[in-house]
Amino acid sequence: MTKNVSEIFGAMVFNDDVMRERLPKEVYKSLTRSVATGKTIDPSIADVVANAMKDWAVEKGATHYTHWFQPLTGVTAEKHDAFIAPVGNCKVVMEFSGKELIRGESDASSFPSGGLRATFEARGYTAWDPASYAFVKDGTLYIPTAFCSYTGEALDSKTPLLRSMDAISHEALRLLRLFGDTQCRRVEVTVGAEQEYFIIDKAMYDRRKDLVYTGRTLFGAPAPKGQELEDHYFGPLKTRIAAFMSDLDEALWKMGINAKTKHNEAAPAQHELAPIYATVNIAVDQNLLTMEYMKKIAERHGLVCLLHEKPYAGVNGSGKHNNWSITANGKNLLDPGKTPEENAKFLLILAAVIKAVDDYQDLLRISIAHAGNDHRLGANEAPPAIVSIFVGEELGTLIDSIVDGTAYKGAKAAMMDLGIPTVPVFRKDTTDRNRTSPFAFTGNKFEFRMLGSSQNIAMPNTVLNTAVAEVFCQFANVLEKAENFDAAVAKLIKDTFTAHRRIIFDGNGYSQAWEEEAAHRGLLNLRTSVDAYKTFMDPKNVKLFASHGVMSETEMRSREEIFFENYSKIVNIEALTMIVMATRDYIPAVEQYIAELADVAVKKQSIAANISCRVESELIRRLSDLNTKAFNAMEALKSIETSAAAIADAKLRAECYCDKVLPAMKVLRDAIDEMETLTASKHWPVPTYGDMMFRV
Ligand code: ADP
Ligand code: MG
Repeated sequence: MTKNVSEIFGAMVFNDDVMRERLPKEVYKSLTRSVATGKTIDPSIADVVANAMKDWAVEKGATHYTHWFQPLTGVTAEKHDAFIAPVGNCKVVMEFSGKELIRGESDASSFPSGGLRATFEARGYTAWDPASYAFVKDGTLYIPTAFCSYTGEALDSKTPLLRSMDAISHEALRLLRLFGDTQCRRVEVTVGAEQEYFIIDKAMYDRRKDLVYTGRTLFGAPAPKGQELEDHYFGPLKTRIAAFMSDLDEALWKMGINAKTKHNEAAPAQHELAPIYATVNIAVDQNLLTMEYMKKIAERHGLVCLLHEKPYAGVNGSGKHNNWSITANGKNLLDPGKTPEENAKFLLILAAVIKAVDDYQDLLRISIAHAGNDHRLGANEAPPAIVSIFVGEELGTLIDSIVDGTAYKGAKAAMMDLGIPTVPVFRKDTTDRNRTSPFAFTGNKFEFRMLGSSQNIAMPNTVLNTAVAEVFCQFANVLEKAENFDAAVAKLIKDTFTAHRRIIFDGNGYSQAWEEEAAHRGLLNLRTSVDAYKTFMDPKNVKLFASHGVMSETEMRSREEIFFENYSKIVNIEALTMIVMATRDYIPAVEQYIAELADVAVKKQSIAANISCRVESELIRRLSDLNTKAFNAMEALKSIETSAAAIADAKLRAECYCDKVLPAMKVLRDAIDEMETLTASKHWPVPTYGDMMFRV
């Protein structure tokens, strides 16, 4: 199948080219000016834009439109309305007004609001986000929107993100002005999110209630083979997977998503897709669409895409690497240039990010905390959930020399000459790769690696943008008053590196030694999501979001409530699923096998009393013991689950799920997994780890 990529790329997107072509010149100018400067759209142009959008969408086969938004469920929401308007005589015309484009009203009562929306006021509003392109998907025009309550409080992930983009732009511009930049009108945050996922055969998936209800396996003995041979990472793609990936690329390209890189990941049946980076709000939308398409297109191939952070115990989980940078006038502000020691602006921005990460370790940890991700870091698995920064040898040496006041000798060669005539001289990646660092400087961007594969990337970016905006603000406050600007910049860089060098760590983040060292340095180690959530309403965090207009204390409180609520709900569903599987599948299956063994033993004995029944009696004895253990564990889990569910206070309830329910689930799993290793394959009621991971 050949594809004309440049022809299909962006075909379903109402992008800049389409707007330029279809909108009157003045309208186009007014719209793009508002977007570029982050200003409100002139309402008088809305009707014209809406009509052009509708005509274009109808040509693409659309009959409906929807305001597409990101409620605090973590996934997207949509409600479709047909364009039709009756004109009498049993006829309709296709209509779409500016009012319908700009604002939608929907019943918000079934979306999580964390107590924000009083029950008497169930209305919620969606407001068009013109900075993110509309698109057509499956016969509907999708309009990216923000979602808020009647009183204007954000009920979604996107509104705080958009506000944080304004905050960082505003504060960064103050610094740029001090460095003599009079031109720049807006500083943009760019993000590229590398997305990991697992693929499983649909028929096997359907037979696993745990995957269907929770997205991860709650039982399963390890397969004889895992990822130890490292033969999957970057290995050749299986035919079926390659076909899926090819369809996925095509679908994403049509949506204007720059799907760029695809490869096999470390664990069997694990893969990755990376797009080319985009402005952060677009990157967020595109990542959500990418996840949606991964699921949809997998189904077309008889496959299921698992986006859970830890579908299988014992092999790698799936994360998302959030590559983050800031751009002004089309230039990357985190690009060190050829001689970083001379580039004061770069060093100042680098120092600001380092300080922001150190000052707001807790918020960064919270921004990636959810029940699924606890199985990947911190609570149940290496690496620890400690936030630290990797800067690489060259910058590390430079920072040391600045702090210690010694001369910077420079890393041996910023330019690397390989000495092979056909290979050109290229600029060395200024950093080595350190795969264990949660927050790594990778040449001209920071890579925040703690994100879970299933999560909306809006929150981590909201935190990053706001924390960096705050430090930019503090820096600008100092520098605007400075008499000698150059000296003040140098002092600020030195003071900041000195105060925050503790967060820089270039060693192995997975080692036990690092946990001890980090504690010694006073870095936070918030093991579980619940531990992390408890720090959310810390006065310094409330002050941060409020002072930059990103989230009010009320909006934060509602999110805190939802954090705890979601956590409890997820663990609760897992516990109930385990109870169902144990009671209805595993325990009866083992009983049947025991009955069969007993039958065999009786038959053998009827032939001759001295025929050995050792195998039967041993297996019966062990399996009976284990099945009793499983039954007791199931009963115990039931009663702990019931008491956890009855706790009224959201925080205390989440604590109970974390500290009591999860351990009870483990006891049940251990008993059942051990029975799996002793039970005949034909009696085992569900596909095994080996089946699921190696038979795609
Ligand atoms: P690796 O797996 O080696 O880290 P990838 O090429 O898979 O590298 O992913 C790197 C990601 O970083 C891509 O999504 C890329 O577009 C993104 N990226 C590159 N430059 C920037 C930048 N200036 N701002 C944000 N993201 C960037
Ligand atoms: Mg990467």
